[in-house]
Amino acid sequence: MQPMEVGVFLCSTGIDDPLEALKKLQELGINNCQLPPLGPDWLTTEKAGVIRKALDDAGVVATTQFVGFPDESYADIAAVERTVGFLQEDKLPERMEMTKKAIAFGAEVGVPAVAAHIGFVPEDTADPRYPRLVDTIREICDACADKGLKFSMETGQETAEEMREFIKTVDRPNLHVNFDPANMILYGKDKPVEAVGVLAPWIVSVHCKDGDWPTKEGQLGSEQPLGEGQVDIPAFVAKLKEIGYTGPLTIEREAGDDRIGDILRAKELLESLR
Ligand code: MG
Repeated sequence: MQPMEVGVFLCSTGIDDPLEALKKLQELGINNCQLPPLGPDWLTTEKAGVIRKALDDAGVVATTQFVGFPDESYADIAAVERTVGFLQEDKLPERMEMTKKAIAFGAEVGVPAVAAHIGFVPEDTADPRYPRLVDTIREICDACADKGLKFSMETGQETAEEMREFIKTVDRPNLHVNFDPANMILYGKDKPVEAVGVLAPWIVSVHCKDGDWPTKEGQLGSEQPLGEGQVDIPAFVAKLKEIGYTGPLTIEREAGDDRIGDILRAKELLESLR
């Protein structure tokens, strides 16, 4: 793969079956992807072999395995806080078990990194959930390290400076960042282009996604096709070049009814900027 090669977050195709989605990427001339959160049915050694073969057949490289959970909700900010990631104590054992299966699966597929939304890092480090989350992320990083993998936190549910402090506290060499500029805006948290500078040493992958700031308290902002929202995608890509980023530019599109059209337009835009 070349530096800043354009890829796609596989679920952004809108095609649920990852094998069909990989065929679609081949058709679109896209040679790299991030693998979506997969359910327990997929997270086996046998299915890792199936995915590996489908990747080979499509000529696509998988750059990250995402982890997510079926009962997470992104309906509004309160729902995200309540349901996403590793903050809920009662869900933690089952979510850790699934995360470890995803790590083993990712290693068998041959990805270099596993990534997740870890949930809102509490703003107040005296919040008892803060040290618990630190311990949880250490455990995940160590499970990744055992397989030679990086672990990437997705940005956006906290400010860049809060994330930087959290990363320093976790203090694991394989802890990195999957930088999503739109999330910073959608969650009303931070200015994405400046935030790239704050998190530069840890960024190993990015989501190329766009959006507008929230207009109502407690609501998320609205996602927009790449280049049509308030991220300033040319400035974002220029900033990635400035920090020496050489990883893929992974298109993410979670809204709209023309996913494939939006992906193709995003690819064209990114290829003109990279
Ligand atoms: Mg994202």
